[in-house]
Amino acid sequence: MDFEYSPEQEAFRREVRTWLDANLPKELCVDDSMDERVAPNREVFEERRRWQSAMHAGGWVGLSWPREYGGRAASLIEQVIFDEEYGRARAPVLPGYSGIGLCGPTLMQWGTPEQKSRFLRRILSGEDIWCQGYSEPGAGSDLASLQTRAADGGDYFVLNGQKVWTSGAQFADWMFLLARTDPDAPKHRGISYLLLDMKTEGVTVRPLVLMNGHAHFNEVFFEDARVAKQNLVGPLNEGWKVAMTTLMFERGGAGGGGHGSQVRRLVELARRVRIDGRPAWENRWVRQRLAQFAIECEAAKYTRLRSLTRRLKGIPPGPEGSVLKLFGSELGVRIAQFATELLGGYALLGEATPAVPDAPRWQNRVLSSRQYTIAGGTSEIQRNIIGERTLGLPKG
Ligand SMILES: Cc1cc2nc3c(=O)[nH]c(=O)nc-3n(C[C@H](O)[C@H](O)[C@H](O)COP(=O)(O)OP(=O)(O)OC[C@H]3O[C@@H](n4cnc5c(N)ncnc54)[C@H](O)[C@@H]3O)c2cc1C
Repeated sequence: MDFEYSPEQEAFRREVRTWLDANLPKELCVDDSMDERVAPNREVFEERRRWQSAMHAGGWVGLSWPREYGGRAASLIEQVIFDEEYGRARAPVLPGYSGIGLCGPTLMQWGTPEQKSRFLRRILSGEDIWCQGYSEPGAGSDLASLQTRAADGGDYFVLNGQKVWTSGAQFADWMFLLARTDPDAPKHRGISYLLLDMKTEGVTVRPLVLMNGHAHFNEVFFEDARVAKQNLVGPLNEGWKVAMTTLMFERGGAGGGGHGSQVRRLVELARRVRIDGRPAWENRWVRQRLAQFAIECEAAKYTRLRSLTRRLKGIPPGPEGSVLKLFGSELGVRIAQFATELLGGYALLGEATPAVPDAPRWQNRVLSSRQYTIAGGTSEIQRNIIGERTLGLPKG
């Protein structure tokens, strides 16, 4: 593994940093980007959409996309450098993240020439924001159990059913979704991958409020909603293969960022709050717990670098994806739990106090961290994958 950056890569980093310093509006900077992937309201959403458009004009959206589709054909390492600088600048997650990271790359592989020319450029510019309609009330981990039905109506499909946990659907212009087009086929067959204009008659979006008060995701209902047949992606009834392409991109990006900044904030907290009249930091057990978290962050960092090295060498992804997803999301929960031990009663406060100025941020972290053990494949599912595919354990 080579830890050094080349002079060209260092120059690229400076270019990104300079551009962000000059162009990122300060009021768009976020405190904790992990919890702000979906804007809290329409006004902030539209501000972020304008930011995406400005980034697109600067040539910074879809860095890894091929040039023919409006990307920059950047190398993986340039993508990593860009992400580091973007995080350092506290810039918000782009509202078009689902389109850029999931739907766009899937269309490049499976879309018709018309679908590519109609959608890809608008995904980058932010003119079209996409959401992902996979999960349903009875289909999450076992996605192939989905029941939303797309019946043949001639030139179009007639969509009936319900999606749930659809992140950002309240702001989205389009949804990529899975629906059953042949109810008599075995469950992984007879599914098709469709593109739905969210303004279609018969589509109702109902936001769901998380326990941190944020309406991150939604229920989406379809009642005789029509989808033109030209919006079928890939072959009819073979949408499962198309869906797997999207999931591959989702898992490829699901390693998650490091928790180093959380641990540094935890250290600041330990210096500020008091236990039995003394700063918490003066207790040996507190420092030991903090040291353990720092060690785990380093271990995750090198696992991430090992995974990156494999990708740079063109070796197929190993088990690191599931290991990082499982370890990272569970570490986030443990860090938040330790924060509650340090905060005591302050953990319940949603307002800043002189003793704990960032109490609301910690409260949000405590309430939000668990969602990452569910989204993108639950911890139990990751353990199954590691157990069965990596350790060769018998199927449970
Ligand atoms: C923040 C967030 C954002 C999301 N955004 C989207 C989105 O934009 N679009 C979308 O389509 N979906 C989205 N999801 C849904 C997400 O993909 C599902 O919640 C997830 O796949 C789990 O499915 P489920 O909720 O139906 O739970 P279930 O699959 O019903 O699981 C319930 C429990 O049973 C366990 N379990 C299930 N099967 C097994 C097994 N075989 N072995 C052991 N344990 C098992 C699970 O681990 C879990 O603890 C989002 C979820 C979250 C939390």
